[in-house]
Amino acid sequence: RIAFEDVSKQFGKNVVLNDLNFNVAKGERVTLIGPSGSGKTTILRLLMTLEELSGGFIYVDGDPLTHRKNDAGKRVAMKPKEISVIRKRIGMVFQQFNLFPNMSVIENITEAPIHVLGQSKDEAREKAKKLLDQVGLGDRAEEHPTRLSGGQQQRVAIARALAMEPEILLLDEVTSALDPELVGDVLGVLRDVANSTDITMLLVTHEMQFARDVSHRVMMFDAGHIIEEAEPDAMFSDPQHERTKKFLQAIL
Ligand code: ATP
Repeated sequence: RIAFEDVSKQFGKNVVLNDLNFNVAKGERVTLIGPSGSGKTTILRLLMTLEELSGGFIYVDGDPLTHRKNDAGKRVAMKPKEISVIRKRIGMVFQQFNLFPNMSVIENITEAPIHVLGQSKDEAREKAKKLLDQVGLGDRAEEHPTRLSGGQQQRVAIARALAMEPEILLLDEVTSALDPELVGDVLGVLRDVANSTDITMLLVTHEMQFARDVSHRVMMFDAGHIIEEAEPDAMFSDPQHERTKKFLQAIL
């Protein structure tokens, strides 16, 4: 479903990812862990096409995302129109909610379904209302996001991502900016999403209990490389690599 093939990314001289290879199966939920700067966020941003690949290929269901091989086997950049077709299948929720402050909650959710998916306003609003119910904010549709708590804003951001009916959902430290007492509600919503859909999920989180509950596999990164991967129970109770042991000791 998702395939990283020899992916490299550098910012100036800083090589963040170097020939990275991994696959994520359809419906699989994978947590990326690792020290700050190890490249986890960059991986999600590359998938979201928010950063440009320096080398290699990313495939979604066999379709190249931003670069493909031409008939001569040479790596070529794809056209923005081609990229946007596949990019639509991927949704992302960020640490800093990134809601549009000048729109109501429901407008935030219906904006892309109307303008990108071509849904009618009525259809988009009806679907958005269902999603708002699902994230426990059915009564806040007409409010402005600035009037909501951080946890509520993040739940709107989750609803907004789901409104695009993505096949792949990327979650980048979605609870890191929240007051501790607001974290539980957001994780509860995501647990429901994980349990009630077969969306493929890639998540970066420091919430290890959450990672344990929802993910099928955990990948430990260090300096842009996967140094260990395992099912969550095995990873958290019996890490094999010294670097993983140290990292988990420091955060658990
Ligand atoms: P954290 O847990 O702190 O978010 P991370 O594992 O997600 O860390 P990344 O955010 O992917 O790490 O960053 C990896 C490296 O890439 C870091 O050295 C960072 O400074 C660098 N980097 C990321 N984005 C940019 C950018 N836009 N311009 C320059 N360097 C960047």
